[in-house]
Amino acid sequence: MPAVSRKKDRRFDHFLGKFKNKTAVKHECSRVLKNSAWTNTVTDADSVSLLKAILPFHYNSVELLAEPIVGFVSGESETHPGSFCFKIVYRSGRQREFSYNKCFKVMSVKDRQTRAARAAIQEQIWSFKNNTLKQSGSMETSCGICGQTITDAVQIHIDHTITFKQLWSEFQKSNGAPDTVRVQNMKDYVFVDREYTELWQLYHRKEAVLRAVHKQCNLKRKHE
Ligand SMILES: [Zn+2]
Repeated sequence: MPAVSRKKDRRFDHFLGKFKNKTAVKHECSRVLKNSAWTNTVTDADSVSLLKAILPFHYNSVELLAEPIVGFVSGESETHPGSFCFKIVYRSGRQREFSYNKCFKVMSVKDRQTRAARAAIQEQIWSFKNNTLKQSGSMETSCGICGQTITDAVQIHIDHTITFKQLWSEFQKSNGAPDTVRVQNMKDYVFVDREYTELWQLYHRKEAVLRAVHKQCNLKRKHE
């Protein structure tokens, strides 16, 4: 009896030709990381392109790719002391670490749908953030969790008062979720069905209650 074949992970197909398979891409990332340890920088163009190309597959890619990237460095992880990792350098000078291993995890259909759903409403989050910044003029917004003033734009995080998960699952109860999700602009997952996307965006615009909170307060709450 033929075994039920697992759907092939096609996300790395665009690397083929240059690499034999997904494992080869992963090994190359590991090699680049080890090499970078001499100087803590990633200098050659091929390695920079490689890292840029795997970022869309990170579960947190929406946030990782939200700002223009100028390069990569490496160093000890702040969240996992003792381990060595890549750090993205943004145009603003800000750095953010990421684990390349997380870019190679196979995502379930459900995960991909959730990613597409998040990407579809990202614009609403950004415009809420921009409006908050504008209205408050010189950052006089208070945090929805601790109530203290948010004094630095870098500190601001936009939070769903009713969680995203709840809204998304509520919406699916009456509308389901399409199986066809693809990667667009090497940036994120999108639903192929435009009408469905618009329906979800409208629903989110109507139902989501967004608020500004401190990044730290939000992280703390998630870990409680
Ligand atoms: Zn706070």
